[in-house]
Amino acid sequence: MGISLAGSIIRGALQDHGADDLLRSCADVMPQLQTLLDQRLKSRPVGYLQVFRDLLATTGQYHWSAVLGDFSDDFYHLCCPHCDVEVTIAIGDHGRYSAIRDWHAGDMERRDLKPVPPEGLTGAGRWMHDIAARDRQDWLARGLTYLFGKAECPRCASTFGIAAEYTAANLPPADQP
Ligand SMILES: [Zn+2]
Repeated sequence: MGISLAGSIIRGALQDHGADDLLRSCADVMPQLQTLLDQRLKSRPVGYLQVFRDLLATTGQYHWSAVLGDFSDDFYHLCCPHCDVEVTIAIGDHGRYSAIRDWHAGDMERRDLKPVPPEGLTGAGRWMHDIAARDRQDWLARGLTYLFGKAECPRCASTFGIAAEYTAANLPPADQP
């Protein structure tokens, strides 16, 4: 079985059955698969992002495995944790900002995102960034500093962590407190 096929199967199984069951049943092969995927990444393959997402899936980062884009034209939609207005987060070549999306007028009231310096990253963000930096995928390493950085709500001017809010809003029901 090819590495990418294995990764795709894992991602699909995670979506259908949830991470816990799958990770339990694959506990023996998962470290091997992680090693293979990590080696593949070091060779900086053309489809780097796909392999990267496969690696995320094998480590239980199912959520980011499913939604992580190439940061050329990515949008995340979440609600401000303070005033509950829907905020659109853009991370792409056209800009990196938070905004209120108006379906006719476009992204209004834009505020620049505040990226976190690489040394300020922790947890999954740090791990993901370190792999991207190791493999000299600057576009990915840079995008992650925005995704794990802070956004300002255009409506109430409070700031919040983008990745934390997005993760909290998109956890499977069973994982919610
Ligand atoms: Zn707000």
